Amino acid sequence: MEYREFKGTQVSRLGMGTMRLPRIGDKDGAPIDYDRAEAIIDLACESGVNYFDTAWPYHEGTSEEFVGKALVARHPRESFNLATKFNIRANPDFRYVFETQLERLQTDHIDFYLVHAVMDNSIDMYLESGCIDYLNEQREKGRIKHLGFSSHAAPANLKRFLDANDWEFVQIQLNYLDWKYSTTHEEHDIIAAAGLPIVVMEPVRGGRLATLTPRANAMLQEAHPDWSIASWAMRWVRTLPQVQTVLSGMTTLEQLKDNVATFSDDMTLSDDDLVLLETARDAFHDELIVPCTACRYCTETCPAGIDIPEVLRLYNKIKMGSQTSRAAIEALEGGHPGDCISCGLCVGNCPQGIDTPSIMAELAEMPASNAMTRSIPKKA
Ligand code: SF4
Ligand code: SF4
Repeated sequence: MEYREFKGTQVSRLGMGTMRLPRIGDKDGAPIDYDRAEAIIDLACESGVNYFDTAWPYHEGTSEEFVGKALVARHPRESFNLATKFNIRANPDFRYVFETQLERLQTDHIDFYLVHAVMDNSIDMYLESGCIDYLNEQREKGRIKHLGFSSHAAPANLKRFLDANDWEFVQIQLNYLDWKYSTTHEEHDIIAAAGLPIVVMEPVRGGRLATLTPRANAMLQEAHPDWSIASWAMRWVRTLPQVQTVLSGMTTLEQLKDNVATFSDDMTLSDDDLVLLETARDAFHDELIVPCTACRYCTETCPAGIDIPEVLRLYNKIKMGSQTSRAAIEALEGGHPGDCISCGLCVGNCPQGIDTPSIMAELAEMPASNAMTRSIPKKA
């Protein structure tokens, strides 16, 4: 296992996220399958992983209790770093949350504590709540060893929150797809300029980068037949010097073994690998995305009154992993995908030859709470 020093502590570069633990019967919403989840925790410890990340809302509020029982109560406290978070939307009473977290986690201190999921629409709630002063006090008392925050905010708000306190680390979504097609690169540079280490979430984009399109997969497999597609994403993040630890929300022992192998060999990406990965990434992106230019040649003749380019823009966001865009399509004024009568007028008017009726049919079948992956891109 590869380690990186953080203020005198050797922290594993692979961290275990506990938001996707196995559930009983593998059913959405079912309780954590303690036997299988404990086996993952135990093997992670044996493999040298020493950073474990949980949060108040994970697994419908049961992840912290599980981590307390499976990790803290069963392994020497000094052998791992414990990370958890305060989420103001889940419960704004930060004093109650923190005290309860110590109880749930069966510990008297949290090694890495984060203000959770700072977003453009929650940044002021956090800044005005008083939680930062309270958490600084807990740090002074030694109940928090290191204080940071996780961000999904736009770069300007990330910088604003960064400047608001003496933070020690920042957690962001970082992967090779978002590096080019979202604001990740800019976020990375803001944090690097502040000299803070980065904890990475969504390195495989909620699983979206575990399997690419057939052409992109083939490019990567030909270069390194023994590497999984997901491991390319982990290796890419591993090459970034500002990255302290890469979190992976592991559900199976196989995922854990693959990740441990990735962080235990000397096989970082060569310059040729990096060029190839960029080529595969762009091929994946271009094959995935509907090339609508928003010319609107199709809209006037649509008998269903559908704002076709806006629907296609949101469809592309769904393909890139957005959880909210399907609902956003239903909220549009005018017609909706289910109103499409497959007349084909839009296809005849489209310079790009986009098969809009098929896409409308696909969307009509898709539930409004789509969850193709678990992450939300910041720009299409
Ligand atoms: S096929 Fe559907 S989206 Fe296209 S013009 Fe006809 S009703 Fe509108
Ligand atoms: S005509 Fe084609 S490219 Fe133009 S807005 Fe409609 S779907 Fe998009």
